[in-house]
Amino acid sequence: MPENKLKIALDCEECIGDGACVEAAPGTFAMDDDDKAFIKDAQGDAREDVLAAAADCPIDIIVVHDEASGDKLYPED
Ligand code: SF4
Repeated sequence: MPENKLKIALDCEECIGDGACVEAAPGTFAMDDDDKAFIKDAQGDAREDVLAAAADCPIDIIVVHDEASGDKLYPED
């Protein structure tokens, strides 16, 4: 499903380790040994789950773009 490809960016240093992103999109996000989230597979979940994960992040450090169009999907400006 190339039309669904997402480009996800995450500033791991800022992560507070609450795990909300992993809960919403466990195929995409995981926690490292320091309790910081990282992207394990940018295509690991449905688009709506990745966007829900980004929206659930309490400090809005997950940025999602549509890879094909380059449109920013989250956060909205
Ligand atoms: S939701 Fe945000 S703050 Fe929480 S673990 Fe994921 S990236 Fe870190």
